[in-house]
Amino acid sequence: MSDAVSALERKGLLIRSPGSDGRRRLLALTDRGFQVSAELSAWDEQLVAALPEPDRATTLHTLLRVIADLQRSGAISVARVCTTCRFFGPDEHPGPKAPHHCHLMRKPLALTELRTDCPEHAQATA
Ligand code: SF4
Repeated sequence: MSDAVSALERKGLLIRSPGSDGRRRLLALTDRGFQVSAELSAWDEQLVAALPEPDRATTLHTLLRVIADLQRSGAISVARVCTTCRFFGPDEHPGPKAPHHCHLMRKPLALTELRTDCPEHAQATA
């Protein structure tokens, strides 16, 4: 964590200041940090939209599995993607169009409906 914070500080994206109790540090985005954050917020949509239509669903599906693996291994922090959600039921339906299930919405999920930043996401345990 401190390596990541230091790297962001060096790039001018984050500033660190002492907290009121003298032990904690407060982190805040700089103006440039806010700008970069806004530019990156739709990275997944931009990536998928840049692909040919037939490749989008499988690419998104693969991408979400990679994100889930990275999160489980601790390489990245929490991402609100279907593949790390406790409501996600992988491969519950036959057929390639909508193989997964969202137990919150109680419906099959087509590969193109898998979410990368779902407001209803609830972290799965283990
Ligand atoms: S609640 Fe959201 S993140 Fe969880 S499985 Fe359903 S659509 Fe995916």
